[in-house]
Amino acid sequence: MPDGPGHYPSAAATGRSKPSRIALVDVNSFYVSCERVFDPSLAGVPVVVLSNNDGCVVARSNEAKALGIPLGEPWFKISAQAPRWGLIQRSSNYELYGDLSSRAMELMGRFAAWQEVYSIDESFLGLAGSPQSLQDQGGGIRAAMALHTGLPVCVGIAPTKTLAKFANRVAKQNPAMGGVCNLDTMPGAQIDHIMSRVPVTGVWGVASRLGKRLNAIGVFTIADLRAANPLLMRRKFSVLLQRTILELRGVPCIELETERTDKKQMIFSRSFSTPVTTLAGMHQVMSLYAQAAAMRLSRAKQLAHSMTVFAGTSPFHRTASSFPSVTVRLPAPTADPVVLTRAAVGALERHLEEGVPYARAGVMLTDLSPAGFQPQLDVFVSVHERRNIGALLGEVTEKYGAGSIGLGRAGLCAPADWTMSRRYSSPRYTTEWDELAIVKAN
Ligand SMILES: [Mg+2]
Repeated sequence: MPDGPGHYPSAAATGRSKPSRIALVDVNSFYVSCERVFDPSLAGVPVVVLSNNDGCVVARSNEAKALGIPLGEPWFKISAQAPRWGLIQRSSNYELYGDLSSRAMELMGRFAAWQEVYSIDESFLGLAGSPQSLQDQGGGIRAAMALHTGLPVCVGIAPTKTLAKFANRVAKQNPAMGGVCNLDTMPGAQIDHIMSRVPVTGVWGVASRLGKRLNAIGVFTIADLRAANPLLMRRKFSVLLQRTILELRGVPCIELETERTDKKQMIFSRSFSTPVTTLAGMHQVMSLYAQAAAMRLSRAKQLAHSMTVFAGTSPFHRTASSFPSVTVRLPAPTADPVVLTRAAVGALERHLEEGVPYARAGVMLTDLSPAGFQPQLDVFVSVHERRNIGALLGEVTEKYGAGSIGLGRAGLCAPADWTMSRRYSSPRYTTEWDELAIVKAN
């Protein structure tokens, strides 16, 4: 990873004028691409990543998609054919993915005045410039990502988040575009044409259930949705759908840090209004963020098994440059705010420095599973969970606002991972000394 400016177009160059366009930078087939960074033999061959206990397919390379392997396919159903197809399987390695994610996010953030980390492999960036300059910036981000992280990304650039998501999809599906789609440079008729061919569920925030309800009233494609009456749709469906329609027409109305539901991780990340320079302050931040993430997790009835915590200075700060991040495997899947807070504070505290002006921080929970799905071993149920402190914390916070109740600092237990079968796992190349990649020189 680069540790100073000068390796690529400086963020300051893009941050001088007020951002007027939004870029969505998204890693292509993220889990598979992480595996490929350290194992080049996986390039160009069909690869699938399996869920916990090697149960079912959670990620596919394009080649695996071309074989017709659906997401969620149980591994036992395809394992027999795998050798014939040349299909390679990997157990999910959330330590590797979490660590590469925070590196990728930090690098993306250097290109923009503002950044919103949206999921494990995508962030929104605020960009400014002429259509040609935006196109060049998109290309610059792609090149830097390839050079410094080894991860392939696509960049969608547009006036709104919903359109940036759409542009990213267009870039992904049209390799001839070179990985960057800037809607400003596309003729309107071409955009209309694509929108009239993509099903409405291809729009950010329109899940399959909503899609079915829209189909029932004759809205089948993105173009149909864009043409619908926003007020009518608000009355029939929700204010969220009204905003989506306006965004498709180029009117920005989905604010930063808005929760949307099409994510496989839970992220709570914010830029601070003023830098936090003390360790005590950062502990407080991490503890609040972990609790906020825990609350989102339990609202979604999910448990997390892996956590990445990160902090960073402003990319525009002249002297201070520090972007610590740590990924930890939790002892067992949990949504317990006590356990998550302890993990977040404990994991990051050794990497923070007194006096450094931190400008942002975040907590990302990955390896999610539905709560109550797997039998919890009693030994792993925290005493707090038994006493239902989690629910109490949530209640008090809801009533009196965030920050009204919190948990103190505590150490982090060493993770135990003996319950999980990860037979096809790649090494934790970036987070374990014993598993670093070995380079042979001839
Ligand atoms: Mg992706």
